Amino acid sequence: MRKLDFCFIAAVLFMLAGCGPGEIKVPDFDERNALRLLTKLVAFGPRSSGTTANLRQAEFIAATAGNYGAVTSCQKFQRLTEAGPLRFINVEAVIPGRQPEFIILGSHFDTKKLPGRIKFEGANDGASSTALLLELIRAIKNSGMQLEYTLKFVFFDGEECFSAYSFHDGLFGSKYYARQLELERAVFQCRAVIIFDMVGDKDLNITLPADSDQRLAAMLFRAARRAGTAAYFGYLPTPLVDDHAPFQKLGIPVLDVIDFDFGPANSFWHTSEDNTGNIAAASLKIIGQTALNLIFYENFAKKF
Ligand SMILES: [Zn+2]
Repeated sequence: MRKLDFCFIAAVLFMLAGCGPGEIKVPDFDERNALRLLTKLVAFGPRSSGTTANLRQAEFIAATAGNYGAVTSCQKFQRLTEAGPLRFINVEAVIPGRQPEFIILGSHFDTKKLPGRIKFEGANDGASSTALLLELIRAIKNSGMQLEYTLKFVFFDGEECFSAYSFHDGLFGSKYYARQLELERAVFQCRAVIIFDMVGDKDLNITLPADSDQRLAAMLFRAARRAGTAAYFGYLPTPLVDDHAPFQKLGIPVLDVIDFDFGPANSFWHTSEDNTGNIAAASLKIIGQTALNLIFYENFAKKF
């Protein structure tokens, strides 16, 4: 019996750790590398869906994730949009776990198409979360640890709408990806979808949409307490349209880790104020280290 008990406890610890028996060592998120990547993404210029800059950026994301050791692939598709027929590309970077069950960590990389006279960098809205995911891939692969469940980092194209969010406008990439999950009958293997968006604000204040999955939110808050970052996490009084929505519709637990409070009363959002001058590496560190605590300590292997 004693031996059995020991095996059981060891198995539980193994599951919780998400890595081999022994001490869990949460990798270090390198915010300087994240900021360096963010600056490279911004350097592609305005990169709304269908532009050459957008495509070049997608290639850079896939190459960087591949260099960091993830298994990359692309989803290409076309849609008739209010800006005419456009080509879109989602980039997927996978870190296989012991189990085929997976969680999705997502970010959009397209930037809002604004009138040409507005110098729009999309340093926060597009680049910050994309750089964050790339640095997460580097940190996790560099740790040499294998998780129990598989991580799918998905870089979505076409989050931004051309006129107003509707069935036909906006969330092009996440809608397409969610539909593929359905067609491949893989929805049941997806344990959670965690979207990151606008996470570089130097005055960081995460505002989870009001309809966030309660259990996932509790896991995030617990991870934040462990990382010492809980003061930066709170709720928005309302739901929000973002890349989590198509997955929420499929019944998958979702979180949208977003700071929808960029500048006074969110006044920097979709303006020329969304530039690298209003970004702080320290904010990327707060979100990145919290995400690593979430990934390494919380148990996504079992069903919600
Ligand atoms: Zn936006």
